[in-house]
Amino acid sequence: MEIPFLDLKSPHREMEPELVEVFRDCLRNASFIGGPKVEAFEKDFAAFCDVPHCVAVKSGTDALRFALVAAGVGEGHEVITVPNTFIATTEAISQAGASIAFVDIDERTYNMDPNRLEDYLKSRRPAAGGRRPKAVIPVHLYGQPADMDAILEIAGRYGLIVIEDACQAHGALYDSRKEGQWKKAGSMGLAGAFSYYPGKNLGACGEGGAVTTRDPSIAQKIRMLRDHGQARKYYHDIEGYNGRLDTVQCGILQVKLRHLREWNEKRRQCAGRYLALFEEVKGVLPPFEPSWVKAVYHLYVIRVKQREALQQFLSGQGIGTGLHYPVPLHLQKAYAGLGLPAGSFPAAERTAREILSLPMFPGLTPAQQEMVAGAIKEFLAKNPY
Ligand SMILES: *Cc1c(COP(=O)(O)O)cnc(C)c1O
Repeated sequence: MEIPFLDLKSPHREMEPELVEVFRDCLRNASFIGGPKVEAFEKDFAAFCDVPHCVAVKSGTDALRFALVAAGVGEGHEVITVPNTFIATTEAISQAGASIAFVDIDERTYNMDPNRLEDYLKSRRPAAGGRRPKAVIPVHLYGQPADMDAILEIAGRYGLIVIEDACQAHGALYDSRKEGQWKKAGSMGLAGAFSYYPGKNLGACGEGGAVTTRDPSIAQKIRMLRDHGQARKYYHDIEGYNGRLDTVQCGILQVKLRHLREWNEKRRQCAGRYLALFEEVKGVLPPFEPSWVKAVYHLYVIRVKQREALQQFLSGQGIGTGLHYPVPLHLQKAYAGLGLPAGSFPAAERTAREILSLPMFPGLTPAQQEMVAGAIKEFLAKNPY
């Protein structure tokens, strides 16, 4: 029996009548760009994230880029993030006109280490290369919020804007000890960027993304940016982008959003079952979830020493896995120009060699999880480290 890394077909089969109805409605009304479906979805997703504003855009990459531009980040600025993220995070920084700076991660959570952020800001020469730090982008990697209390506190002291990369964290919760309440991913920084790429916890039937914010002027600016800088057709206050989200995708996302809480809950149950299964397996380090977060497990990532061999073995057993991500960004060819050699971010580099993403999706069954864990046990018994 094959166990896919991700099953996108079953949920769509179940929702097919509703989704086809959305498409038919758009077709019959020739409603393709803008309109009530876009506004209705934005309202629903804003409510889901506990923020007053949501602006739907073409992709998570656009969401990050527009959030930076709307926040006034551009030339002469530096934006700080982590090296173990998808390249969209840093593409957005460069494309906004700013330069990229990295800080290392906390090896237990794989998220930005606030201590490294503080060290970097302390040790950084003022105006290095004529640039000054302007923003921080913590990434809620794998669906687990970064330590936002600490990051927001440090950012506040250094006068930095915080944009959350929540592209993997729709509905994830963070217990703000400072504010004494649980907060949704995307509701804590100046803005949050979400992706609706099909494989994300909430995915469109194509590309999609959104920015969430509590700041009405940021929301307004992003509405302009996504629509060629116009608030009124053919009257352009600024140059913008073609970054609107299709009406049909908003309609589809609105239908799917109704299931998101349940899907996230199922992912958490799957994570709980994996954790129990791996308890007695030496050589597997399961994800660590601090008591102050509720992760939504976009990915379920374990750490093992013989990662390549295990991945191959599982593939031979028909078990799909993934690597998120195999090469830290500072070591990618695209960023050779940054001049950051191997060894610059030891925690991110070590984890990149040992991480393995296991099958994780709401419909993953206990029997399938037992097979995955069984196969890993079998491999480790044959290949003790
Ligand atoms: C998916 C993702 C993005 C980009 O989203 P797109 O919709 O593919 O543009 C950005 N950051 C992270 C961490 C992601 O996982």
